[in-house]
Amino acid sequence: MQLFFNEVKRNTGSVICGEQEVRKALQENIVEALVISEYIERVRVTYKCSACGYEGQNTFKHPKPTILKKFFIRKRCPRCHKTSLRITKHQDLIEDLAQLAEQSGTEMIIVSCKAEEEQTLIHSLEGIGAILRSSS
Ligand SMILES: [Zn+2]
Repeated sequence: MQLFFNEVKRNTGSVICGEQEVRKALQENIVEALVISEYIERVRVTYKCSACGYEGQNTFKHPKPTILKKFFIRKRCPRCHKTSLRITKHQDLIEDLAQLAEQSGTEMIIVSCKAEEEQTLIHSLEGIGAILRSSS
């Protein structure tokens, strides 16, 4: 934990932040440690088109199931343009990233303490950060 914040402060370039960047790095298996705020409230939704079989994923910041359902009833499939998208999986973003981390054997640190300095830092990282493996 402390290591992470030291790296952030030193700005060595080995720290990345934001869900997209971190997800990409996890998939490339170049993450040393994943750092995520316990207070992040997002859901990862997998959806599928029942007409053409297209499958996609999206992260939502306001995870009310009823709202999500309505959203997907109106949304058009990017491939066949029918309104046949249905939610097939719905899970907490933390859980989703934890699975990715597990697959690549990456350490995961959940920041739950209310220490102001740490919360400010993690907030500036959009709630999700990662230390990359040193290439040396
Ligand atoms: Zn479709």
